[in-house]
Amino acid sequence: MLLRDPTSLLLDWRFVVNTHTNHIWNQQFLITADRMETFLAANLTRPPFLVLSVWSKIYRSFGENDKFMFSFATWFVAIATYWITNLALLYVDITGKPKFLSRYKVQKDKNAPLDPKLLPKVFRTVFMNMMVVLPVVFYATCLMSVWRGMSCGYDVPSLPRILLDLAVAVVCEEILFYYSHRLIHHPYLYKSIHKKHHEWTAPIGLVSVYAHPIEFVVSNALPLFAGPFLMKSHLMTLWIWTVIALSGTSIHHSGYHFPFMLSPEFHDFHHLKFNYNYGLLGFLDRLHGTDSLFRKSKAFKRHKVLFGFTPVSVSIPDENEFNRKKAH
Ligand SMILES: [Zn+2]
Ligand SMILES: [Zn+2]
Repeated sequence: MLLRDPTSLLLDWRFVVNTHTNHIWNQQFLITADRMETFLAANLTRPPFLVLSVWSKIYRSFGENDKFMFSFATWFVAIATYWITNLALLYVDITGKPKFLSRYKVQKDKNAPLDPKLLPKVFRTVFMNMMVVLPVVFYATCLMSVWRGMSCGYDVPSLPRILLDLAVAVVCEEILFYYSHRLIHHPYLYKSIHKKHHEWTAPIGLVSVYAHPIEFVVSNALPLFAGPFLMKSHLMTLWIWTVIALSGTSIHHSGYHFPFMLSPEFHDFHHLKFNYNYGLLGFLDRLHGTDSLFRKSKAFKRHKVLFGFTPVSVSIPDENEFNRKKAH
């Protein structure tokens, strides 16, 4: 057990309170503490019943076949997340509908509407990565998970354990993505590997995996799975993380700064300026000073979660953008 049992804190308190049992409110406190203890034991140290029941059904429906779960089923979770998110974004890009969403475009005059002629090339590459390379990656994942002794059975993890594993996965992804991404920006590797991904200076959701297969494996897939392997995470946590990470990278590439969602400004700026902002969260760019131009830009001021429906281009206007429009 990695975390201290939270109920033990209550037991400590109960010992203190028990030394003053003459007071009626102390009795009330003990009753409340008992109820909290039961609640915490039920919700923090064991998985909620509903989660356990749903996962048990999934596990049984796949015939309790661990290899199948780690390979094919995990691949299915990944492609379902990728296609659902990005085909919805593509519909907005091509049709410009619903119209009010165009207010949230990051690079206003780029790919609005998107030229469908650009798509066959994108589809060829992303099909190759998601439907050919990724199954091979998941087969390797399956072998690695057996080697690591990862579980996908009825021993569903508790909520604190899931949150801890997700936090480690986020940090591992940022570290591995930052350094591998910076490596493929080296002139020796850029032209033959990473240039493809940078054909899109104003990205759309689909191009989150529009990359050379080597980049896709080393810089996309490997950072994603590093955390769960390190933590020996349960497969349920790996699925949750896969959905978060893939929908997150689609939003980073979407070209839209939607309300109540992650800000895409940081990675959008990377596609616009190439040699800045190699990470996703930005703490390693801060450490290495690779966010210097970004920090002086309008995009930096706009880089925040939007709590409201006023687009950042309205609340934080860009005078240059305004002057360009006036000149036209
Ligand atoms: Zn990108
Ligand atoms: Zn790059």
